[in-house]
Amino acid sequence: MSAAIIDGKAFAAGLREKVAGLVPAFEAAAGRKPGLAVVIVGEDPASQVYVRSKGKATEASGMASFTHKLPAETSEEALLDLVRQLNADGAVDGILVQLPLPRHINEQRVIATIDPDKDVDGFHVVNVGRLATGLNGFVPCTPLGCLMLLEDRLGDLSGLNAVVIGRSNIVGKPMAQLLLSKSCTVTIAHSRTKDLPALCRTADILVAAVGRPEMVKRDWIKPGATVIDVGINRIDNGEGGTKLVGDVDFAEASEAAGAVTPVPGGVGPMTIAVLLRNTLVSAYRRAGVPLDKGTI
Ligand code: NDP
Repeated sequence: MSAAIIDGKAFAAGLREKVAGLVPAFEAAAGRKPGLAVVIVGEDPASQVYVRSKGKATEASGMASFTHKLPAETSEEALLDLVRQLNADGAVDGILVQLPLPRHINEQRVIATIDPDKDVDGFHVVNVGRLATGLNGFVPCTPLGCLMLLEDRLGDLSGLNAVVIGRSNIVGKPMAQLLLSKSCTVTIAHSRTKDLPALCRTADILVAAVGRPEMVKRDWIKPGATVIDVGINRIDNGEGGTKLVGDVDFAEASEAAGAVTPVPGGVGPMTIAVLLRNTLVSAYRRAGVPLDKGTI
């Protein structure tokens, strides 16, 4: 059996185009562009790459991008002051503080200071609660991107057995909530789960968000299942260099699954596309410009 490859790169490009297509109508109605503020503290090279690509993608979609680069020694109070300023700034619809933060800054306190209605990352407890209770809020970008890929592939998800490996606040838990909201029967697995391969074999939908290279093997996968690989792991390529792999053994999964996301080119590109989508939705909501449900 040869699995279909779920092309997250193409889907994300389509979503970004849709976002860009909805910017002019907002601008005409509100008299300004939707705006995303991204805050980075310190010099972490991976974070700098992420922040640069978020800024570029924001501008490419026609929205305003405000990047705030703060030195590593910035105090927590100074960062909280900046977040409060951005909360009050009418040109800012989305605020994203790039994680991880330096150790002397309490991440939870920073997230709690972001206005929940500008929290386009969906990490604020108010948005976590909204997701859990089925209210309109912001959902973390990576799991929402996974859900979009699943619905695009499978249509109605109701009644399907879903197993999510990983219970982090940014991927595993919100992923499970989203699948539950679509009437899947959801099991969350983690490092203490017993007989993980047997559990995974019950899954029509298997989402791996673990951070362990190529952990999910062929015999973990129910024949025909849809496999979403969130993992991003850099490993030796055996030729003196490195390569990116997911949490799923892609070659093996391709022989058992009905469909599988590749790494790179699967879930990864969805994260920024959904961030832009959340920012656009925030702008429409905050300005009171109507946006039909289901438009994006
Ligand atoms: P975390 O480290 O926060 O969580 C990992 C989860 O995996 C934990 O719940 C942990 O269990 C579980 N786990 C670890 N080892 C095992 C094991 N042997 N068996 C079963 N479960 C295990 O990671 P994140 O959720 O932040 O990220 C997961 C992966 O997704 C990473 O590779 C990350 O790079 C990637 N990622 C990709 C994104 C994208 O844009 N595509 C965005 C965000 C993350 P326990 O809770 O018991 O410790």
